[in-house]
Amino acid sequence: MENKVIKTKKGIFIKTDKKFGAIVFSPYSGLFFAISREYVTDTISYCENKKNKLPDKIAKNLNIGIVKDKNFEIKSHWLPENNAFSYIDDSTLPNSPIVINWLISNNCCFSCNYCYAGDVIDKPTEMADATEIAQKIMETNPLAVVFSGGEPLREKQKIIEGLNVLGNKVGIIIDTNGYHYDNDLAKLFQKYNAIVRVSLDSLHSELNSKIRPLKNKKSNTNVLNTIVTNITKYREMKIPVLIHTVVSSVNKNSLYDLYDKLPTLGVNGWRLFSVINPNDESKQEQFKKLMTFGKAKNMDDAQQEIQKEIEFFSNKHISKSNFSLQIVHSTDSQKNSVILVLPSGQFATESRLKNEKIKISIESIFNKVDLVGHYERYLGIIK
Ligand code: SF4
Repeated sequence: MENKVIKTKKGIFIKTDKKFGAIVFSPYSGLFFAISREYVTDTISYCENKKNKLPDKIAKNLNIGIVKDKNFEIKSHWLPENNAFSYIDDSTLPNSPIVINWLISNNCCFSCNYCYAGDVIDKPTEMADATEIAQKIMETNPLAVVFSGGEPLREKQKIIEGLNVLGNKVGIIIDTNGYHYDNDLAKLFQKYNAIVRVSLDSLHSELNSKIRPLKNKKSNTNVLNTIVTNITKYREMKIPVLIHTVVSSVNKNSLYDLYDKLPTLGVNGWRLFSVINPNDESKQEQFKKLMTFGKAKNMDDAQQEIQKEIEFFSNKHISKSNFSLQIVHSTDSQKNSVILVLPSGQFATESRLKNEKIKISIESIFNKVDLVGHYERYLGIIK
């Protein structure tokens, strides 16, 4: 039996389930953890600052971003370890979302070559009332909600309305291109313990702009500088920041540079995604150019090279408590592991077979969304 999400005294969000255990979202690190059944009571007591016997192994991970502990390796998001979950199978996984991605905006000033929302951006859409959408999202009992788009910060009023409903009830993540900054919104992010995720593909201005160009290229010649300045503003307000990087043929050799330099910006962590086909037909030609950059002869070749590079990189680099590293295996076959809410309020997921979004009903989300894939997307491979 699954319970509603609670925000504990420590500020950590927890959703419990009798058969499964618990799933935790920490707004201090932006990380999700699964807690095995036998430690759920102690985890809640620990997060409520009550007496507990929580093993150090779990407490250390929950404390990332709260306590400046000795830097340690994050070995798994299944706590205390993967073996402790030998009792789970598909029927034990709770049937409610860990994360919902709300595409609150259908516009963006960038024109990224691989944009995953190209079929939504600048397309005529009937925009629904943000308060009503947020209430509908609450009905599905997610642990966390991502405000995404397009660029969510271009929809200030909707974010305010959405946060009014969701703030302090679920974890809040803001997915932004980092180019926009709004002081009023930043104060709200602080108030509701939101974490900001900024998309950045390279710390070389030219390379980053090649993959993620502004629509109006002449409007700002130093986009990267603007993004870095905005990251600094969030960090000065003690708002945690994670960086999202999409690995393509153009930046696959920049990973080592990013791994070395991102911590110097004071960011809390880094998530890497392998590039997938954009679902907007008009972008296919541009995308092909991006993929066949360098030595790759064709798209399959390019994808294989990217996967090889990511694997090589991830074998050599560990995730640490002061700079977490997550590789999200977003291959085409796992596209339907994500739950989206479109600007119209319609729930959807990406089709596994075609480049399009498919509608889902809120009563039976996991009929079309891959339940195991959804868990592994946020928590890593189960066993
Ligand atoms: S910033 Fe995000 S939403 Fe905007 S074009 Fe790039 S990928 Fe698409």
